[in-house]
Amino acid sequence: MDAAIMNGANKKCGAVAGVRTIKNPVSAARMVMDNSDHVLLSQRGAEQFAAEHGLTMVDTSYFYTQYRWDQLQKAIAKDTIELDHSDTTGYYQNDDIPDNKFGTVGCVALDKFGNLAAATSTGGITNKKYNRIGDSPLIGCGTYADNKTCAISCTGKGEDFIRIVAAYDIAALMKYKSLSLKASTDYVILTKLKQIKGRGGCIAIDKAGHIAMPFTTEGMFRGYIDTQGKLKVLIYKL
Ligand code: ASP
Repeated sequence: MDAAIMNGANKKCGAVAGVRTIKNPVSAARMVMDNSDHVLLSQRGAEQFAAEHGLTMVDTSYFYTQYRWDQLQKAIAKDTIELDHSDTTGYYQNDDIPDNKFGTVGCVALDKFGNLAAATSTGGITNKKYNRIGDSPLIGCGTYADNKTCAISCTGKGEDFIRIVAAYDIAALMKYKSLSLKASTDYVILTKLKQIKGRGGCIAIDKAGHIAMPFTTEGMFRGYIDTQGKLKVLIYKL
């Protein structure tokens, strides 16, 4: 699992990557932000840090579900059938896999003082290998927040989001070109990500409370709640 968190008020951030036994990786990310000199810890070192700081540790079996296990077996089987060198792009673009969505959990928030924050937590992509790490724990790629512009959390094939430095690019377009949140997110997700045949989307909120949630996939589970308490949950395009 990978996770990251960023505080847009002071640019403090923390992240963990490639962890297997931390019950709530995003809490570990916050612990890194609040109680270490570092931004990104990985694998066993990150787990050791989490355990030393009193976070709940679990056996890997805690994360087992039959559904995800079956999904993994299917992906493994497809790899051996399709190619010796596995290519997860093929897996994601295969239309006969009904669960053609991504599983990252992200959150962006604006408080009444104008502070923005973003957090992202993920198991990554199915059948990842060689300690592959995605965009979620990489500040500026899958997660970013800056009080001057916006807070962003991305989901999709992490490699594509890393290539276009998606989250920071959205904030940079707002900062340097004075684009709106909608124009910035549309450009990065619907134009730049599409140009490299990337798949996924983002959730974003700006300092004025505008919300944008564009995506290139068929659906993206998403929701928001506003200052009046109005709650909206969506899956497919509007
Ligand atoms: N972005 C994540 C990754 O590539 C996957 C996801 O969004 O589900 O690790």
